Amino acid sequence: MTTLHGLGVSGGSAVGVVALVALPAPLPDEDPSTDPAGDLSRVGDALDAVATRLEATAATLTGDAADMIAAAGAIARDPGLLDAVKENLATLGPAHALHAAVEGYALQFEELGGYFAERVTDLLDVGARAEALLLGRPMPGVPELTEPSVVIAHDLAPADTAVMDPAMVVGIVTEAGGRTSHTAILASQRGIPAIVQAKGALDIASGLRVGIDGDSGELEIHPDEAWLDVRAEKKRARERISQRTGAGKTSDSHPLMLLANIGNVADAELAGAADVEGVGLFRTEFLHLSATTAPTVEEQAAEYVRVLAPFGNRPVTVRTLDAGADKPLAFADLGPEPNPALGRRGLRLMQEREDLLDDQLAALALAATETGAVVKVMAPMVSTRQEAAWFTERAHAAGLPIAGVMIEVPAAALRAHQVLQVTDFASLGTNDLAQYTMAADRMVGELSELLDPWQPAVLDVVAAACDGGQANGKAVGVCGESAGDPLMALVLTGLGVTSLSMAPQRVPMVRWALSQHTAADCVSLAEAARAADSAVGAREAVRSAASKELTDLL
Ligand code: PEP
Ligand code: MG
Repeated sequence: MTTLHGLGVSGGSAVGVVALVALPAPLPDEDPSTDPAGDLSRVGDALDAVATRLEATAATLTGDAADMIAAAGAIARDPGLLDAVKENLATLGPAHALHAAVEGYALQFEELGGYFAERVTDLLDVGARAEALLLGRPMPGVPELTEPSVVIAHDLAPADTAVMDPAMVVGIVTEAGGRTSHTAILASQRGIPAIVQAKGALDIASGLRVGIDGDSGELEIHPDEAWLDVRAEKKRARERISQRTGAGKTSDSHPLMLLANIGNVADAELAGAADVEGVGLFRTEFLHLSATTAPTVEEQAAEYVRVLAPFGNRPVTVRTLDAGADKPLAFADLGPEPNPALGRRGLRLMQEREDLLDDQLAALALAATETGAVVKVMAPMVSTRQEAAWFTERAHAAGLPIAGVMIEVPAAALRAHQVLQVTDFASLGTNDLAQYTMAADRMVGELSELLDPWQPAVLDVVAAACDGGQANGKAVGVCGESAGDPLMALVLTGLGVTSLSMAPQRVPMVRWALSQHTAADCVSLAEAARAADSAVGAREAVRSAASKELTDLL
């Protein structure tokens, strides 16, 4: 039995045979084009065919999956790509001209960084598919599966992940990718256990039987009976736990609201039907990632009504557009910047484009009136008390009485006692807070160790934000991915947060973890984590002091 270790990004375990996603075969030798116009039209047809297939796939999906596939389709239809092919055909054959155009584009995307760098996998996938069509070769990607399989790839394109049948794909492993890669987001949305950053996984032969544990990040080759028994028992225990319902609270009834993170109407409908106490983060920019023009107030209001309706009188926290850096919006683009994550993104961008913010606030106020929903609004990427006051006053003036800020920048956390004097609540975005505290780009999977929310420095910053909330008697929640980690949820509770917002399928384990500990236990666990001198040490300290019933399941 051999074990490989990666980063578990979608929980649960499974056993299946390895299905390797082969890298595309090398291109054949080609003479330079003798018919550039004819070859250009053949390349254009191949790209069109790829776009049409991706669009057809997107039409069968909903939510993030549909958006991601549609975005890949839009790349295939980008006229700039064909212009580059045309230029290359002066010296190359058609397949090489296409390949060089895609590589050139990928380089530009990488240089742009952020969201564009994330799209490189989509771009290369589109190129590989078009090349296969042009050369009459089989399509690259996930091979046809005939038995329950663990798909292993360098990285997965959204086109691959979104069409996977959970009945056949029981697990996903990639050598690249990070906590916020497509693989991570889509696998957890579909409930498929997944591991990223599993170096050496591609060396495992196709057809071997492997076990995957998406909690511990372990990939086991030829798992033995003991390995299987432990996972089977965990699975049964998790099923029992998922039957429990009710508001979040510690065993001595200290309340902790358990909320859902959503990004569109489909997510809202799923979360609305789940046992959650409301929404802690609605990422409104997800509605517009492929839009080229700004939505009107009426269009936004109509969509917000559909998002708010499933929650009745449960509160829905709506984040205003978090555009820029990893999530650029074409209609809110202020031009290239050397460091987009440190540039005019989030609220900073809205201060340049007040029209966009005012339209969005007006649409939210309309939707709130029409549905009678409890709408809370919050701004992303706030750094100072002045920014917090600016946003809060504007939201109140628009008819939204509960307005808060996200704390994602250490400056806002350290000064939370001042920031919270001028706003109604705060929500900690620990994904960005880890990025900015550790100065580690969250898009770089290789920096996962630094980006770990268990880094004691990140916990210190969270503690400062909670102290600022308590000093002002204001709520401070968490809506970053860390809120869905049951052990971290205990630490956050001990630090003083008042709500935890996460993917709805993570709620049952967190609810149960809280019910196994008192508020005082949580305070001790938080102290133990902060006393450690590394992320691994902090997690281990909490793991060894938390209830055994809980840690046996992780
Ligand atoms: C965060 O930064 O933790 C957060 C919740 O926002 P996003 O992941 O959308 O940047
Ligand atoms: Mg953020």
